[in-house]
This record gives sequence, C-alpha cells and structure tokens, in this order.
Amino acid sequence: MSRAKELTKQLLRQFVDSFDTILFDCDGVLWQSNDVISKTPALIAKLRDMGKQPLFVTNNSTKSRRQYMEKFAKLGFKVSENEIFCTAYLAAIYLRNILNFQGKAYLIGSPGMQEEFKLFDINYTGTGPDPVTGEVEDWVKIPLDPEVTAVVVGFDRDLSMRKLTKGATYLQDPKMPFIATNTDSCLPIKDSQFLIPGTGSIVSAVETAAGRDALVLGKPHKFMVDLIKEKFTLEPRRTVMVGDRLNTDIQLGKNADLHTLLVLTGVSKLSDVDSNLESSDPTDRECIPDYYIESLTKLTEYLSDF
Ligand SMILES: [Mg+2]
Repeated sequence: MSRAKELTKQLLRQFVDSFDTILFDCDGVLWQSNDVISKTPALIAKLRDMGKQPLFVTNNSTKSRRQYMEKFAKLGFKVSENEIFCTAYLAAIYLRNILNFQGKAYLIGSPGMQEEFKLFDINYTGTGPDPVTGEVEDWVKIPLDPEVTAVVVGFDRDLSMRKLTKGATYLQDPKMPFIATNTDSCLPIKDSQFLIPGTGSIVSAVETAAGRDALVLGKPHKFMVDLIKEKFTLEPRRTVMVGDRLNTDIQLGKNADLHTLLVLTGVSKLSDVDSNLESSDPTDRECIPDYYIESLTKLTEYLSDF
C-alpha cells in the first residue's frame, strides 16, 4: 500500500477522466458548520457543466433532505433533493423498504428524523425531552409502549438516562430490530476546545447497556451506495468519493470499491494517513485515499482552466 498522491494540476486530466459520478461528504468538505468553503458552489456547477453527476452523502442525522436543501440553497449551491443522501432518510427508507416495517419505532433522534419518518408514514415515539425523575429504584416504573417493535438511534440533543433506559429495555427482546444512523464519535466543531459527543457515543451507550450491536446504516457501511444505485447510474470504478474523514468517507470508498479523494479541511490530517499506513490493524492499513488535496477551493481553481 503506497502513500496517497497529492492531486496536483498535472494529475488533473487523469483524475477528471477517471469518473462520471462524484460523491461528496458535506461538513469539512463543502462547508465547515455554517460557513461555505470558498468556491465549492462553483465547483459543483463546473462539474455539472463537464457532464459529471455530483451526489451528496452525509452521516449527519439531524436534518431531513428538505432541511439540507435549505442549507445548500442558503450557502449558494444548486442541488436537487434526490441528490441528497442523509442518514435520517436512510433510516426511514431502511425501515420502510427493507424491513417493510409496520409497527412503531422507539426513536432516539432528531426533528429531522421525525420529518423523514412522517414522509414514509412510519409510526414512532420517544422524541423530545424525556428527563429522568426520582431515584434509580423508581426507574423500573417508567411506562413502556407495548406497540414498540424497533429501536432507532440517531443524534439526539435531548438524550437522557430515561431514554437510554427505555431503549435498552426494549432491546431485551432479541427479535427487536436495532438500527443506528451512524457511529461518528464526535461533532466537527471548528476552532473550539470543546469535544461534543456524536451519534457514535449515543449508539455505544445503548449497545453497552443492551448487550447488542446496532445495525449501522451510514458511512462507512455500503447501504448508502446501494441506495444510490437504485436511483442513479453508479459504476464503482467510474465513481470518486470525496471526504474529510478516513474512517467514514474514505473507508466507504474502500468498502464500495470507489476511487477516493481526501480533503484536508476537516477531521483527518495527512499525519492520520501516515498513522494508518503504520497501523497494526489491516483495515486501517487499507484505508489510504488514492489522492489528497488541501481543499476543494484549490480543485476549483485548477478546474477553471478546463
Ligand atoms: Mg465530514
């Protein structure tokens, strides 16, 4: 396994000719929180002019596709809703199309997930604040909903011991499906001393208490790519995955046999690529991007001559 190649202007023709479809992670790639990364809306427009199909794949479970559309528009991107694949949507479509789910989901999740669940006509309970009361001895009297037939976990700003207790208790039924949107450990927060726990921390808490592993839908798992293939022509060897995180974005590229480009405007640094090369874990050693570039701003500038 060799080190990733820097995507230079000299390699641009070879790179551009290698793909028809290009998957973009969003945070740390196209924007950082609410700030657009310079020139990325022009990059998307340029790629369309060149006949390439851009698609957007994010593990963030806090927004519905409609809410993402609003964010894209606000930041100056021209994107259509069917080009967006977020994990709130993945969870709803998995329940509806794969499980043919007819029951009620216990949802540790966000308003964005509720919106997608409503669109797919999926019954759910559990959202919103559910604070703990009383002593631990009283928690065994927490009312449970007998209609719950699945537990779904995404990002939930209202997470509480009461929600964890309910989730883990429902999962004592070994036949109860247990689905998680993603397992990103923390939220990408720019220029801050704070480390904000991500969905992965919530999923781990439920898994540990329940003694079961969740089925994870988001990157690096292939479900995202399988879903895209149902809507778009996606030839893996003619597709590139662009991301800022090695263990989700680039690993998805590896799992789905796509070309990969790491951008250095988000979570992973070049030193992380080197750490992966030297890792004792073979999965890490495989998780090396084909190319890296400082930012998509630079790629836009290179492409302006095309
Ligand atoms: Mg990212």
